[in-house]
Amino acid sequence: MPLNVLDRPPEVHEDPLDVIDEIERLKREHDAVILGHYYTDGDIQDIADFTGDSLKLARDATRVPNKTIVFCGVHFMAESAKILSPEKRVLLPDLLAGCSLAESCPPEKLAAFQRELRGQGHDIVTVAYINTSAAVKSLCDWIVTSGNAREIIDRVPADKEILFVPDQHLGRYLSEVTGRKMILWPGSCMVHDIFSLQDLLRVKRSNPGSVILAHPECPRNILEVSDVIGGTEKLRKHVAGVVTPTTFLVATEPAMIHAFQKVAPQHTYLMVPGIMASDGTTCACNRCPHMARNTLGKVRDCLRELRPEITWQPYYDGARAVLQRSILEG
Ligand code: SF4
Repeated sequence: MPLNVLDRPPEVHEDPLDVIDEIERLKREHDAVILGHYYTDGDIQDIADFTGDSLKLARDATRVPNKTIVFCGVHFMAESAKILSPEKRVLLPDLLAGCSLAESCPPEKLAAFQRELRGQGHDIVTVAYINTSAAVKSLCDWIVTSGNAREIIDRVPADKEILFVPDQHLGRYLSEVTGRKMILWPGSCMVHDIFSLQDLLRVKRSNPGSVILAHPECPRNILEVSDVIGGTEKLRKHVAGVVTPTTFLVATEPAMIHAFQKVAPQHTYLMVPGIMASDGTTCACNRCPHMARNTLGKVRDCLRELRPEITWQPYYDGARAVLQRSILEG
């Protein structure tokens, strides 16, 4: 007979310090290292051996000597780490940690669109943001992150047309800064798409002298009023380089503020609110639900059970070549 809610045993509260102690012991036992993305919760960033954006972590994964990598991030990031370091065991604390942006570009649809464009006579080079599945990466010529996109796009011969997938906002921004015309895939990130211009301007008015930091995955209307636009690593370096205490309005995933506070505690950081509801409240939907799946308990459990593990898939071979030349070379 199924258990009634009231019959279920109460959830056991675990002391986070005990969980952290066990994580440290299991790391030693399995020769493991923890990589944590800046969008994971502060307690995950604090136990990580390396923190960073997707470009830095992909590179860190290839450089660490450990046999096991616990990737606290989302699926495409752990997949990229496995592809670049096939000999290592790569664990993802929660296999359901996906990415709305990666999901907006299924490989079959991309392959059909590429065929259609070539059939119409377009001589295309496909440039993919790293927030894509390995199956999509295997269909692309270059992989970029917000940290290296400009430099890679400059390598595409001027006589080629660029098909940029999957983030339309990042693609539009890159098209403007590089002067290259691009065919844009209509994808977007559920977190960055949701910022409200109206609310941002209101916060800005109530904080005279504040500086708006925005990730290029934000829509154009947010980027147009922003003072500093960049990927997470660039934004982190920017706040670290400002000595005078400043109020920064942060238009990216709120967990990023933890990384800012660590490197530049002299500043005040205010979250840019999301879309305002009819009753005047703003949503908290700019927290990435996928990144939030990484918890201390799941990190401990995956080290205890050595799963979920990212295992090699046949299409990883195609993705490996393009990832290597885009992320590790040049
Ligand atoms: S913040 Fe957006 S792009 Fe990043 S993992 Fe979450 S859904 Fe994907």
